[in-house]
Parts: sequence; C-alpha cells; structure tokens
Amino acid sequence: IDWTVADGWHDARVVPYGPLQVDPSSAVFHYGQEIFEGLKAYRHGGGEVFGFRPERNAQRLQNSAKRLALPELPEELFLESVRQLVQIDEQWVPAAGEGKTLYLRPFMIAFENFLGVRAAQTVRYMVIACPAGSYFSDPTRPVDIWLSQEYSRAGAGGTGAAKCGGNYASSLLPQEEAYANGCEQVLFLDSSENRYLEELGGMNIVLIKSDGTILTPLSDSILPGITRDSVLELCERAGRRIEHRRITIDEWREGVADGSIVEAFACGTAAVISPIGKVKSPDFTIENPAVTADSVSMRIRAELTGIQNGELPDLMGWTQRLA
Ligand code: PMP
Repeated sequence: IDWTVADGWHDARVVPYGPLQVDPSSAVFHYGQEIFEGLKAYRHGGGEVFGFRPERNAQRLQNSAKRLALPELPEELFLESVRQLVQIDEQWVPAAGEGKTLYLRPFMIAFENFLGVRAAQTVRYMVIACPAGSYFSDPTRPVDIWLSQEYSRAGAGGTGAAKCGGNYASSLLPQEEAYANGCEQVLFLDSSENRYLEELGGMNIVLIKSDGTILTPLSDSILPGITRDSVLELCERAGRRIEHRRITIDEWREGVADGSIVEAFACGTAAVISPIGKVKSPDFTIENPAVTADSVSMRIRAELTGIQNGELPDLMGWTQRLA
C-alpha cells in the first residue's frame, strides 16, 4: 500500500515476491525512517489459520509510526493486509502440531527521493512472509546472555519503545560481542545510570521470585512486547503477584545468590519463552537455577503456546481467524 500527503493510503495490491525498484536517494537508505512488526500465523488442528492478538501489532505499528514521523496505518488496513497475504500463501502455513508457523513481517519505509533531512511525504507499507520454526528448538534449554556494559540500545526520549531498524542497528555490535563471549543474546541496561534492566536484543525479560511473584522491568525505552503482555495477563488471572517496576542488575544478582529469584526467562514472538541460563559480564556471572519441565516458566509457556496453537481454550479472545 502506498501513502502520499495528497492521497493518503491508496493502491493496495498483492504482487509476486521479488526485488523492489528503489531510487538510491530514497530517504529510507539515508535516515533510517522505517518501522516494522513481527507476528505469526498458526494452523490449528481443524485446519484453519489464526493470528495471535494481531490488533496489538497493528496498534504498536501505529505507535512506532508516530515516533518515526511516518503516517499511521489504520488498524483495519493492517489486519486486512495480513489476512490477504495469509490467504494467498495458505499452503505455506505449516501443519498443526509441528510447532511451526508462518512468520509475517509487515513494514513501512520512507519512499521519497531527496537528500534533505525531513520526514518523507511518500511512504510504502508492505508485508512479506516466511515459514518459521521456533528460535530455540528445545524449550527448556537455557539461553546464555551477555551483559553489554559499554553500549546501550536506546536512550531516554529516543526510539527504544518503537520497533524501528535503528534500534536493531545499535544492537548489532553488542550482539557480536555476545557471540564472541559464547552467549546467544545481549542484555541491555538503561543508558543513563547503566544499572536498570531493559531487555535483550530481540526479547523482553521476566524474573520469577521464590514466592511466585512475577518481576519485569519498567522502562520507557524498551519495546512493549505482546508476548510479555500476554504472560503478565495469564499470570494475573492465575492469581500471581506482578511487579512491573525498575529492577537493577544487582537486584537480579543478589536475588539469585540468596535464593529469592528462582527463574528467569526471555520472551518474544520468535523466542516464545526461553529460560535464561547464565548472565555473563567481564566482572561477574549470574548463574540462574536450571529449569525443569514443571518450572513456572515452562508452565506459562505451555499455557501460552496452547492458546496460540488452538490446543487450549482461548478465554481472552486472543486468537483471530486469518484463513
Ligand atoms: N524486545 C525487542 C527488542 C524485540 O525485538 C522483540 C520482538 N519483537 C520483543 C522485545 C518482544 O516483542 P513481542 O513479544 O511483541 O514479539
């Protein structure tokens, strides 16, 4: 779908996948004016295909658009674009029970050719899709993470809460550092005091205390994850106490040492829920306790994936038929 100041959103179309013709002076190449979303289409046992809270992705894309001075795409246009693509590509949605999905990537880019620095007045929104397994194949296998001390992902007042490429660009170097230190993901702290937990390169963080309380970082510069929001809602319904507040890295470290923090997991659309093993840094290592199939995190994971895959009743009305 294209957007111009004069005509608004227009010319929605479905075309075969292939290269785009983009002018070298297109603003997206120079100033990073682009945003995206990531969601999955799940095939249920009856053969139908469902999305999981896709309206939340539509709303988050609108918030990202606002921050990046891009036009807001109406929620219904977003949902219609996702439905149309899934219906056309239905044969690519993996069968139920395989633990696989069709990953959808809606994105919006500045599409105007000029070299001055200002918001583009011509924009294009597209959706592409690709079959995907889960990020980490064994759900109980812990993921080790590297604490980035030198770099932050986003600063106060920056674009941290938007899903824009620039946030990921700034996380690539620390992510390389994580790999070099034998870790799969990088953990970011806040940019001003360098002590409050933010999130991982592509996932949010949740900690569980020995009394069952769910602890998750509060910050204006992290991405409000739809998986995390769903986890918190499921936990709240199950009567668990939720603490959504600022958490220092020392609180995590001391909590593990004195036994008051007993589980830690990363969550996101791609990762679903993955237990965190070690948190490594040059100065110390936090060794989170091992996870078993009946740990709280794995029970939350079973509940969430059960709803997403249509194997458990969807009491919250989170799933939406796409095809
Ligand atoms: N934080 C970041 C930086 C991410 O890229 C993602 C994945 N979109 C998340 C958190 C988790 O968000 P969600 O649960 O909506 O996938």
